[in-house]
Amino acid sequence: MIACCEPSGNWEIHRYMIKNKEIERLKQLRKELSAHNRAYYVLDNPSISDYTFDMLLEELKVLEAKYPEQFDPNSPSQRVGGAITKKFDTVQHDYRMYSLDNSYSLEDLKEWEARMHRVLGVVDLQYTCELKYDGASISITYQDGKLLRAVTRGDGVQGDDVTANIRTIKTVPLQLVGDFPQRFDIRGEIVLPFAGFEAMNAARLDNGEAPYSNPRNTASGSLKLQDSAEVAQRPLECLLYSMVSDRPFVQTQNESLDKARSLGFKVPEVAKLAGNLEEVIAFVSYWEKHRFDLAYEIDGVVIKVNNLQQQEELGFTAKAPRWAMAYKFKAAQVSTKLESISYQVGRTGAITPVANLAPVSLAGTIVKRASLHNADQIEKLDVRVGDMVFVEKGGEIIPKIVGVDLSKRLVSSVKVKYISNCPECGSVLQRHSGEAQHYCPNALGCAPQISGRIQHFISRKAMDIEGLGAETVSQLVVAGLIKDYADLYTLEVSDLLPLERMAEKSANNLVMGVKASVRIPFERVLFALGIRYVGETVAKKLAKAFRTIEALQGADLESLEAVDEIGERIAQSVYQFFREEAHLVLLARLKEYGLQFALSEEDLANTTDLLTGNSFVVSGVFEQWSRKELKKLIEDNGGKVSSSISSKTSYLVAGNKMGPSKREKAEKLGVSIISETEFAKMLTD
Ligand code: AMP
Ligand code: ZN
Repeated sequence: MIACCEPSGNWEIHRYMIKNKEIERLKQLRKELSAHNRAYYVLDNPSISDYTFDMLLEELKVLEAKYPEQFDPNSPSQRVGGAITKKFDTVQHDYRMYSLDNSYSLEDLKEWEARMHRVLGVVDLQYTCELKYDGASISITYQDGKLLRAVTRGDGVQGDDVTANIRTIKTVPLQLVGDFPQRFDIRGEIVLPFAGFEAMNAARLDNGEAPYSNPRNTASGSLKLQDSAEVAQRPLECLLYSMVSDRPFVQTQNESLDKARSLGFKVPEVAKLAGNLEEVIAFVSYWEKHRFDLAYEIDGVVIKVNNLQQQEELGFTAKAPRWAMAYKFKAAQVSTKLESISYQVGRTGAITPVANLAPVSLAGTIVKRASLHNADQIEKLDVRVGDMVFVEKGGEIIPKIVGVDLSKRLVSSVKVKYISNCPECGSVLQRHSGEAQHYCPNALGCAPQISGRIQHFISRKAMDIEGLGAETVSQLVVAGLIKDYADLYTLEVSDLLPLERMAEKSANNLVMGVKASVRIPFERVLFALGIRYVGETVAKKLAKAFRTIEALQGADLESLEAVDEIGERIAQSVYQFFREEAHLVLLARLKEYGLQFALSEEDLANTTDLLTGNSFVVSGVFEQWSRKELKKLIEDNGGKVSSSISSKTSYLVAGNKMGPSKREKAEKLGVSIISETEFAKMLTD
């Protein structure tokens, strides 16, 4: 008896040992990845290659899936987001978030210092000078070295809990290193660096969407996005400037900045100690001149009494600390002459008015053009050709006109009459109700629209046609060789050779590149078609949900809107696209040339129709799958995944740690709540 049990006993011990080892490895990986993350994002000094990082992360994910009880919201694997917040809870700040008093001159600062001398007695005051980052303020609470929650400023007493979104920002440490206070708040500003902002706008323009107006509003808007995975995609950063706790663990503000750095926070190095107000002013003047050399936007300098003991004695007014002062920069502004207004036509036919200015130097660059946005903006500013206008540079590459110097207006000036016809093709412009932009409706005959669509079609994320660039496209359009993207597939080397700067080799490459593109998968073809509002992500979702172009074409508005994250605006646009004869002709031709208009065999191999007609909401943590895997499983089997419970939801798949509010809502609406096991059974039946 004993002998026969022994092997299984050993086996148990063996399994137990493996488990222990793997859990140890899991913890080790979390530590290592956190350190690499910090080196990369906080210190700008990568310690391993991206590839190695991805491999380690993959290893961690596998172990986390195997040991779901080890789930930790602060694991490096959670950076990608995924948590959905429908309504942001309002929570009290542990320590009130104050505003700052403003000053604009050395005189203001001297008055401030005199007030402090009256409270403290006349003593030498040291100041820290910090940049005033222009973004959205945030207060993050850490307990036992772990990120506990993150709250917006709100009214200073209470704000919105945006923890799920803040976790996805790579410069925010989830786990601290070194010697940290047991519990404290750290304050900072969520900013969107210029480069990231420009990249986001380039992508939006590519999708035919209106660009964001400035980095600050985009940063604060990002904090309130419901889908944290979307926040994870945005190149946000968190710059920290102050630590608050019950027991001070340093003596000065400057030491507190150093402390924050040592714990793994991103605290810009430019902060400086000043021994008197003259040194403060030198710092302010320097940064007023160099503000646009920074990677992110600032709108001034914050000056703080360095000694924390003195800070405490000074205390607060109802609104702001008495020991700190903001020195706001004047916006970088110049005045120059508006010489003319020209109108550009985009790929979707949207018209953008552009101001042509007498060249002028502003914040280190020569400005010749400024954006005027749309007709309403021109009307509102009442700018007129010949006016002297005030031009301001914010975070955007293109400066904007903020006003007119009426004292210099010529009596002969006349109000701008917005164009009523397309500057390129002469068509009468249209304006849809509720939209600010005018459109040229002549999609098929307007040259910049034709070139724009073809350029989008061949772009890297779409059909990625090698050997063909934007300039060549314009050249081909002008030469009358192509009128739409389907025409690309009829091009022959002999057609191309007569073109300027077109050698035999490049002509060959072009034709080969076009031929090769017929293998590009369905979802990218869908993106390439240039349907308004259908960006990369939406194209993927549509391809997955409908699987073939025929199914998508036949879909009514309701079934389009049933797809996760597809709202009325996108659904309308897709529906309309397939209702236009010209588009159907184009599609028929592309099909004939062999482009992919259905998911591939490979994509379809693991799919069934078992869940067709059912819509699921997934919530909580699961044993067998990650949430992402579960969602994929639902979609692969024909079901729809939606992020919120409504009367249309068929099932709520409930995992561990599901929030009580989801359950309540499901019960109220009579939605069936099923467990992971019950769900698994639906797939085997
Ligand atoms: P205001 O909104 O003009 O009252 O200015 C106060 C805000 O400035 C605070 O809520 C912070 O979010 C922001 N701020 C940016 N940089 C700093 C900094 N270095 N120190 C303190 N506050 C800052
Ligand atoms: Zn036109």
